[in-house]
Amino acid sequence: MSETRDIPLDELARLAHAVLRHNGFDAEHTRAIADTVLAAEHDACHSHGIYRLIGIVQACRDGLANGCAAPDVIDHAAAVVKVDAQGGFSPLAFERGLPMLIGKARRGGIAAMAISRCFHLTALWPEVERLAAEQLVGLAMTPSHAWVAPFGGKRGLFGTNPLAFAWPRPDQEPYVFDFATSAIARGDIELDAREDRALQPGWALDCAGAPTTDARAALEGAMLPFGGHKGSALATLIELVAGPLIGDLTSEQSQHFDAGHGAAPFHGELILALDPAAFAPDTTDRDAAAERLFDGIVEQGARLPSQRRRAARRQTLANGFVRVNAALVDELNRLID
Ligand code: NDP
Repeated sequence: MSETRDIPLDELARLAHAVLRHNGFDAEHTRAIADTVLAAEHDACHSHGIYRLIGIVQACRDGLANGCAAPDVIDHAAAVVKVDAQGGFSPLAFERGLPMLIGKARRGGIAAMAISRCFHLTALWPEVERLAAEQLVGLAMTPSHAWVAPFGGKRGLFGTNPLAFAWPRPDQEPYVFDFATSAIARGDIELDAREDRALQPGWALDCAGAPTTDARAALEGAMLPFGGHKGSALATLIELVAGPLIGDLTSEQSQHFDAGHGAAPFHGELILALDPAAFAPDTTDRDAAAERLFDGIVEQGARLPSQRRRAARRQTLANGFVRVNAALVDELNRLID
């Protein structure tokens, strides 16, 4: 077992802010990025928690990303808001475009936000949860780098291409799922490699295209999609609609742009917002049908997605600290030396 350290929440927040500010991020990007990675850390989503700060800082140190970029929000069409992140990170670009997306969804029943030219390294659930908090149904998706082989293939072509969905529920937390279309998130494989943990069979191929459970061999080889040909097709959909459809890069193009730096993926993101009131004005019937569905899941002993995450959040807030890998904390502290 690797050494861990219990870090009080205010200390962890200070560390995240210090890492970003010390590395040239402006106050707005610092707040938006820190809020997102700290929320993931509180929810025990460690692969998208403070660990992400290393890649985020590296992308700026390599001269690829701009920690002071001012996102440009463009009223593109009745149902489309475009946000040019101008080479900055996605959390601030999302925040800046959100009010216009919400307004368009409320007026037209459905609207899309296309974020372009952004570095995206964070979890998607904080974004769709923001839509659900506005009583909107939310969907978000983004490519990454060409790390995932298509089903039946051997070479990385797709990104880990996460897809997140939120459904608002009356008087309780929304139904939310958020998953990579790869068998496992790349951040988890990176953490496994750092801690010498074996992968599960079916997650990855080595450089020669042979199945491997070695995390380092997987990072050099290719990851596999979840669900065989179905995950592969879903990954293709995300490449298309969050890439060429919005005039931005595919995961393979993002990898070329990176030119071997191994930095954060640079591409676009598509976020859809649907106003339930525009589709089925009878809220009682709609909500009752949805709740029957959720009850039907839970009654069988299954759980809803996000249940673990929210339980972890409650535990974190009760503890007042998070348990973090000690070597990671040391590495972050070195970024502010
Ligand atoms: P997981 O497989 O850990 O979880 C996927 C979803 O399924 C979660 O909503 C999870 O809820 C839910 N879930 C897990 N187990 C069960 C179960 N037994 N029953 C019901 N629901 C369950 O996610 P991934 O590893 O695929 O992805 C992790 C994160 O990585 C995501 O937040 C994603 O956005 C992010 N990511 C970001 C990328 C980027 O480019 N920015 C690229 C790829 C991934 P719960 O959390 O409660 O367990």
